[in-house]
Amino acid sequence: SRVPIITASSCLELTLAMIKPHATKVPYIVKGVQNIIISNDFYIVRSKQMTISPDLAEAFYKEHKDKFFYNRLITLMSSGISHVYILARQNAIKKWREIMGPTKVFKAKISHPHSIRGQFGLTDTRNVTHGSDSVESFKKEVSLLFPEFNVNKWYETEEIHFRSNN
Ligand code: GDP
Ligand code: MG
Repeated sequence: SRVPIITASSCLELTLAMIKPHATKVPYIVKGVQNIIISNDFYIVRSKQMTISPDLAEAFYKEHKDKFFYNRLITLMSSGISHVYILARQNAIKKWREIMGPTKVFKAKISHPHSIRGQFGLTDTRNVTHGSDSVESFKKEVSLLFPEFNVNKWYETEEIHFRSNN
């Protein structure tokens, strides 16, 4: 019998992506981001729409508490409906951040015009999307936004099904 060869590089990684509230109001941007998710071979593992409370936004962005943009950021993130996704892909964390482009929109527009932030970004605060920056951040973010999602269990039971579709 043949046993499929599974290398570390064929393993899927999870990341947490989000379309921020100002952008979910614009169908053209939502469609554009969703097309980018699909055309870059991400699987949508979970998705939901939710209004993030100020308390939840503060927990999510705790590491930025002392930054000058913190209040603006919390106000934005709790101002309406966010679209939140758990995405799977090889190197999902790095790839999603690459596709989003630089945090600062003016930089994204100049050096990465085809990135999400380059195409759809409005200001440094309203830069369209979020993406986890590390496995640790992903775990923290998923526990805040998808508290019922068990990362270890997904790797044990679901990852293989996504992978075998390749
Ligand atoms: P990200 O991981 O690329 O989203 O960037 P950070 O974790 O550094 O910052 C979190 C969020 O805070 C960003 O996505 C922006 O919405 C906002 N932000 C970051 N830097 C700035 C800044 O210099 N000015 C303003 N107005 N907002 C910022
Ligand atoms: Mg960040």
